[in-house]
Amino acid sequence: MGESRFDRLFIGGEWVEPIDGGLRGSIDPATGEPWGEVAFGGKADIDRAVTAAREAFEGPWRKMPGWERAALLRKFADLYATKVEALAQIESRDNGRAIRESRGDIGLHAQYYHWFASLTDKLSGRTIPMDDSVHAFTSRLPAGVIGTITPWNVPLMAAAWKLGPALAAGCTVVLKPAEHTPASSLALGRIFEEAGFPPGVVNIVPGDGPVAGAHLVAHPGVDKIAFTGEGATAKTILKTGADTLKRFSFELGGKAPHIIFDDANIEQALNAATGSAWALCGQSCALGSRILVERSIYDRVVKEFRERASRVKVGMPLDPAIHMGPQAHQDQLDKTLSYIGIGRDEGADLVAGGSRIDNTDLQGGYFVEPTVFSNVVPNMRIAQEEIFGPVASIIPFEGEEEAVAIANGTPYGLAAGLWTNDVGRAHRVAAQIEAGIVWVNTYRYIRWSTPYGGFKTSGWGRENGLEALDSYLETRTTIVST
Ligand code: NAD
Repeated sequence: MGESRFDRLFIGGEWVEPIDGGLRGSIDPATGEPWGEVAFGGKADIDRAVTAAREAFEGPWRKMPGWERAALLRKFADLYATKVEALAQIESRDNGRAIRESRGDIGLHAQYYHWFASLTDKLSGRTIPMDDSVHAFTSRLPAGVIGTITPWNVPLMAAAWKLGPALAAGCTVVLKPAEHTPASSLALGRIFEEAGFPPGVVNIVPGDGPVAGAHLVAHPGVDKIAFTGEGATAKTILKTGADTLKRFSFELGGKAPHIIFDDANIEQALNAATGSAWALCGQSCALGSRILVERSIYDRVVKEFRERASRVKVGMPLDPAIHMGPQAHQDQLDKTLSYIGIGRDEGADLVAGGSRIDNTDLQGGYFVEPTVFSNVVPNMRIAQEEIFGPVASIIPFEGEEEAVAIANGTPYGLAAGLWTNDVGRAHRVAAQIEAGIVWVNTYRYIRWSTPYGGFKTSGWGRENGLEALDSYLETRTTIVST
């Protein structure tokens, strides 16, 4: 996708200049320098995009038979699959993610679109028995125009998780990607264009959250906001959108526990726990940032974490040999370094990392060492708050009851990992975990068909699976007296 230009918005099937936005340099977090100019939309651009989405919804899209929508989505997915490398390069450039990770993640996205394409002609309702002379049935209808607001850590994955089910349900979309990483989302517009989607079904408008994002949320022409980001932003969004009583779904933060019992396959648990501590440079909602370790194996696990941290190759994101790139932007770098300071002040033991990497090769980039704290106490801030950096907190526990209490002892409830070879314990503990997804003897393994979302402050609703499709549909019950 070398031909991709990012200096236009994608609205109503056309590439247009912003009306009340402008061009902005997108910063390469590996150098701290701009690497491309991206169009940013303002309120008038959001208005245009919502109008285009509404016209497409009332016009061709919702009237199109499901199998025709499926054919378009499949064509899009097939084209997407041919552009994985180009998309991965753009995303790694924009958010600093190691190219090997971007390739792996983006390489799966076509399957998300295919899976939702396979559901477009199966949106059947049901009949409901009533009295003899009354016939009742339900119909499932698209929810309308969807405003999708996505974060900077996984822009294309967040888009796939929303656009797949929304388009399959017959909705139209205005996608507003995050300020720090808008380029890869604009590249999606070229693929929708090439696949032959009717104008206005998908519109893409990068913009500032408090301006373009807030305008989309408040807009009376938008029926639902599908948001991924921070809990604090979700609270603002709820207030901004309250007057319109539109629908909301929220995928928010996490502080996932990795619980390792002494009867587990320790090598496998370590591979998963260390891998997930530093994946995406720690910038993913489901990463196991709290490592809960049974006391009898605690010293061994801490020692392994320290050794493995020293083997993580940190470097330029487009180098296929590196494991970890920089933090995606300056604010996140500052936040991570500040939490490392907090961990030290709280009295946790820093056993690996702890500093910014600013040597000759990586000068100017937002690089941080993979960092490990041991002897972390569950109520410390580093064990309670989402850091979103490569910082693992290792916490000792004795027995199942204490493990569950620590695991559930944060306001979050997105994900958890559990390592044990005792099948009874696996079920017993998993059943007590307050999280939307619990992995047993595996971690971060998900598919398009598996619902994903948070308990407690980690979100509202579910993405992926049939639950995601439901969240883009309204149910109409028709009751006919014969
Ligand atoms: P963020 O909340 O800062 O921004 C997310 C989006 O909201 C951006 O597009 C931003 O422009 C927009 N926004 C900001 N203010 C707004 C406003 N007032 N009105 C409307 N839109 C506004 O989040 P982030 O820093 O980009 O992403 C990191 C967060 O996302 C972390 O908390 C992470 O855990 C979470 N996340 C969750 C999941 C999940 O599936 N649960 C996945 C990825 C990321």
